[in-house]
Amino acid sequence: MEGFTKIIIKWSGKEYDIELTENDTVGNLKSAIQKQTGVRPDRQKLLNLKFKGKTPDDDCRICQLKLKPGFKIMMMGSLEEDIAEVNTTPENIPEVINDLDIEEEEIAIENQEVYLAKIEKRIKEYEIKILNQPREGKKLLVLDIDYTLFDHRSVAETGLELMRPYLHEFLTSAYEDYDIVIWSATGMKWIEEKMKLLGVTNNPNYKIMFHLDSLAMISIHTPKYGVMDVKPLGVIWGKFQQYSNKNTIMFDDIRRNFIMNPKNGLRIRPFRQAHLNRATDKELLYLSKYLKDLAKYCDDFSAVNHRHWEKYKPNKRRN
Ligand SMILES: [Mg+2]
Repeated sequence: MEGFTKIIIKWSGKEYDIELTENDTVGNLKSAIQKQTGVRPDRQKLLNLKFKGKTPDDDCRICQLKLKPGFKIMMMGSLEEDIAEVNTTPENIPEVINDLDIEEEEIAIENQEVYLAKIEKRIKEYEIKILNQPREGKKLLVLDIDYTLFDHRSVAETGLELMRPYLHEFLTSAYEDYDIVIWSATGMKWIEEKMKLLGVTNNPNYKIMFHLDSLAMISIHTPKYGVMDVKPLGVIWGKFQQYSNKNTIMFDDIRRNFIMNPKNGLRIRPFRQAHLNRATDKELLYLSKYLKDLAKYCDDFSAVNHRHWEKYKPNKRRN
């Protein structure tokens, strides 16, 4: 008798084990999730739980879903107290300070042999699933997801409510000059789910070249901040010789992610509290213009200080 199935709920960066019996329903599963996480069933969005391609009803039995033991369900949803907090926050709270302002250490780290060796290893061993082929003569744009394109912590009925405004317009415009890569510090399943949810995957107006996940990252150590995982562009440059520090730019809301390539990173203002900021956030709109200017007038992206992107004045006299 196989009485129990164990599945895993992944939520807010943590995993929760849940045991279910054959007779349990989706409703029972949601109550079990509430017990462990505190998120109310009506607030839970179980991203990859599907029955015949659709979200199953609460009375659907778990055994009908044919989940493999250990199946990971990805959940979006928020606790009541977090929601209350969001709803009572009168104005934008200042940007969260979970970033490190790395300056002096950057250069030293960039060249350390041990990290270059780690990058080599990723170049050799990390397998990229190409979704769309690189195009000749294009620059490279590498994008983070969470808080860059998507507010992954707010509550919403649909993914669209959490999408950063102008996302599709931004990607459509960028695609004219850039091959686009998505790089998120989560797992590939998550990335694929989120991209689908946002309507990026099959968008007719642009194509994503490939996704990179946390396994393409490397961990580095700095005396000041300890160990941290970062996104070295060298992994892409090693695999695709047509891209380099001259024609690559990466957007991330966390500056340390590009500590290996400080001159090719642009720290984007994080998009948080989607409900409050949806009407006013125009970051992607402005950045579209910046990408256009770079593509048109700049021969070496690493020679521009991307911290001052808003004040960038292209030298239009270039040949
Ligand atoms: Mg992020």
